[in-house]
Amino acid sequence: MSPNSNDTEGRRDTLRLDLSDCRCCPRNCGADRLAGPLGSCGIGAAAEVASICVHRGEEPVISGRRGICNIFFRSCNLRCIYCQNYQISRADGDPAELIGTGQIVDAVDQLLARGLKAVGFVSPSHFLPQVIELIGRFEQRRPRPRLVFNTNAYDRADLLRELEGRIDIYLPDLKYMDEKLGRELSGVPRYPETATLAIKEMFRQMGSSLLLDDEDEAVRGLIIRHLVLPGYVENSKAVLRWIASELSPSVHISLMSQYYPTPEVKDHPSLGRTLHPEEYAEVLAEFDRLGFYRGWVQELESQHHYRPDFNRDHPFESPGGGVGP
Ligand code: SF4
Repeated sequence: MSPNSNDTEGRRDTLRLDLSDCRCCPRNCGADRLAGPLGSCGIGAAAEVASICVHRGEEPVISGRRGICNIFFRSCNLRCIYCQNYQISRADGDPAELIGTGQIVDAVDQLLARGLKAVGFVSPSHFLPQVIELIGRFEQRRPRPRLVFNTNAYDRADLLRELEGRIDIYLPDLKYMDEKLGRELSGVPRYPETATLAIKEMFRQMGSSLLLDDEDEAVRGLIIRHLVLPGYVENSKAVLRWIASELSPSVHISLMSQYYPTPEVKDHPSLGRTLHPEEYAEVLAEFDRLGFYRGWVQELESQHHYRPDFNRDHPFESPGGGVGP
């Protein structure tokens, strides 16, 4: 498929982010993406989507009874060596289809027709112009789907401010409070400083309340995720301490233990294994000590379940047809 040349709605928004001098994310490359994939994310001017699918494995309030329609964008503005979605997050991996926003809307419409209530933008940071255009299109739709911004939090706070009132649920993953870890494990400078500014902006917009509908599905709010990494317990505790002290212990937290070693890190001294029970117990003890009381804590056994395969049409369903947790 080629990019849809009829995609004109929302063009005013799109043009505000100049892809000939891309500064869509805090990497601030200044790359000319109209000339090709020249920036750190390795993505040119067109939307590239790895998968548009129903995902039932998000937090219960996000997936709801029927699942969420997730748009998985290709590549990423981080380079996490352990990326759990590594099949789609590498710009040098299999090329995705270039796809116009009109085609994305059509594919999403087909899934929303099954009664899904929400659309998730997954790894949206390097596709912000297209996301803004999609938001404009979904705002025209009746019923309007709830829009979820599912991000690694390496986002520009000033651009998030422009999304105020247009995104319904922020779902950032706060990864590190240690600058060195951001560089070593995700290949970016100033991760803690950048991500905490972005999350403070999300908190300013949403506060700590999470509005639910009569089916206990999220309507509006903020959920902060944190994936506990083997060997980095102190980092996880620091992440939780920052949230409790700088935001509030009443923020909804999704603490995840599902980490598994991908092929790239199978020989890494820490990341080459799953979490030890005592490591997770230490993080949970800090979670309790800090007074968090809202959100979700994964069972340690989750590390055996949440393994998507983006080579399948339905990445989150097992080959036998069963749906992952
Ligand atoms: S979106 Fe891509 S090209 Fe633009 S600043 Fe970020 S990494 Fe660089």
